[in-house]
Amino acid sequence: ELQQALDQKQIETTRLQLLLLTTVLASVGIWLVRTKRSQLRFRRLARRDGLTGILNHQHFLGEADAALRQAERSSRNACLALIDLDHFKQVNDNYGHAIGDAVIVRMVTLCQEHLRSVDIFGRLGGEEFGLLLPDCPLEQGLELLDRIRLALADTPIDDGHPELGISASFGVASTRSSGYELSELMAHADAALYRAKRAGRNRVEAVTESG
Ligand code: GH3
Ligand code: MG
Ligand code: MG
Repeated sequence: ELQQALDQKQIETTRLQLLLLTTVLASVGIWLVRTKRSQLRFRRLARRDGLTGILNHQHFLGEADAALRQAERSSRNACLALIDLDHFKQVNDNYGHAIGDAVIVRMVTLCQEHLRSVDIFGRLGGEEFGLLLPDCPLEQGLELLDRIRLALADTPIDDGHPELGISASFGVASTRSSGYELSELMAHADAALYRAKRAGRNRVEAVTESG
């Protein structure tokens, strides 16, 4: 009887030990999953612009460069566009910074409605944005940007201020004439953007073969 009681106790002890071990392992597992998840969340947040949720400047450059390397390997054309809101300082001056922020957010959602999932869209700072369109000949890029431009000019931005109109200028460069180096594409798109501003704003300008 004593032996039987001892055996019984031994079984119970083993069970308890197993239960304890399982609990410890499960807790460690849950902790690992949670840590990994919050790590991924922070990494995602660090890549995003706080106001609009699109890629921030640094990560736009990284992603655009990676897409260009891929385009180069497969000899496909890509377009790079720089977009800058017109007379944005006046929006802030006349309506206040909060409405200015709302305009930026509205502009981003409107662009996103026209973009494909492969397109890379980032906020370069203030009211200036970068857009890399992989697998996209210049003509197609120009058409898309002009659709965005028209939609922007057509969209009431703020319910409280129906008179508040907004427009943007676009400068575009294509890998066909500018090559696959991001810095070169950025410089050419910037020159085209400058031309769009000089020519009266609210327009899309592309860099030509002659620059
Ligand atoms: P242009 O047509 O030549 O581009 O004129 P602009 O007034 O848009 O250009 P400028 O560079 O003179 O002014 C940009 C303004 O954008 C100035 C700055 O106050 C405003 N701005 C920059 N970042 C933000 C932001 O995050 N929120 C708001 N509301 N305004 C911003
Ligand atoms: Mg501007
Ligand atoms: Mg600007």
